[in-house]
Amino acid sequence: MQAFFEVGGATPLSWLWPILAAPFVGSLLGVLIIRLPAGRNVGWARSECESCHRPLTSMELLPILSFVALRGRCRSCQAPIARFHIWIELAAILVAVSAVWAARDPAMIWANCVLGWTLLALAWIDFRHLLLPDALTLPLVLAGLAATLWLDPDAITSAASGALVGYLAFRAVEWAYRALRHRDGLGQGDAKLMAAAGAWVGLENLGLVILTAALFGIAAACLKFLIGRGRVRLHLHETQIPFGPWIALAAWFVRLYVS
Ligand SMILES: [Zn+2]
Repeated sequence: MQAFFEVGGATPLSWLWPILAAPFVGSLLGVLIIRLPAGRNVGWARSECESCHRPLTSMELLPILSFVALRGRCRSCQAPIARFHIWIELAAILVAVSAVWAARDPAMIWANCVLGWTLLALAWIDFRHLLLPDALTLPLVLAGLAATLWLDPDAITSAASGALVGYLAFRAVEWAYRALRHRDGLGQGDAKLMAAAGAWVGLENLGLVILTAALFGIAAACLKFLIGRGRVRLHLHETQIPFGPWIALAAWFVRLYVS
C-alpha cells in the first residue's frame, strides 16, 4: 500500500482503485448534496428510506447494484428510490474515469479525483440551490495547496497566488456589479470557488478557467433565454443563472488537460 501512494509509483492496477471507489464516493456526495443546503447533519451515509424511514441494511446501500437489485424501489414501502442517487454515482464514476484517462501517476489521479468529486458536489448544489457551501469550497482551497505541496512543491507560489488572485478578482467584479446595479450579481461562494480553482490550476492558468467558465455560462444563458423566451425576456435582469457549475467544469478541464 505504501508504494501505491508514492509519487510515480504506478502499479498495473493503480487506475482501477479510484474507479472502484467512485460509486461509493458518489453515494456519499449524494448525502452531502441533499443535506448540506438543508443545514441537516451530514452523517456518513444515506441511512434510511426517505419515505418510510426504515433503516437501510448494508446490502441496500451498495451503490448502483442495490438500486438495480431492488428495481429502484424500497423493499418494504415500495416507494421509488430517487433517480438522483444513481445519477450522482454514475457522475462520480465519470469523474474517476476522466481523471484516470488524463494522468498516469496514481497520486496525481487520486488528487484529481478529490478535486473532481468535490467540484461535482458543488456544481450540483449550486445548480439546485444557487449556493456554494463554505464547508466544501474552503477545504477545497486547502486541498489544492496541499496537493501542490505534495505533487509539485515548486508550484506552490503559483498555487497560492492563484487562490488569492482568483478570490480578489471575483470580489472586485462582485463589488463593481453591486455599485453599478445596486444588487448582487455573483455570490460570495463564486469567489471562494474561484480561489479553489486558482489553488488547483495555478496563477498562470487562472485566466483560462475564467474565460472558459464565462463562455460556458454565456452559452447556458443563451440556451435558457431561447427555451423560456417570453418569460425570461420580461425578467432578464432578474434571471439568476448559477455560475458555480461553469467554474467547476472549467477548472476540471483546465486541471486535467492544461495545468
Ligand atoms: Zn421505504
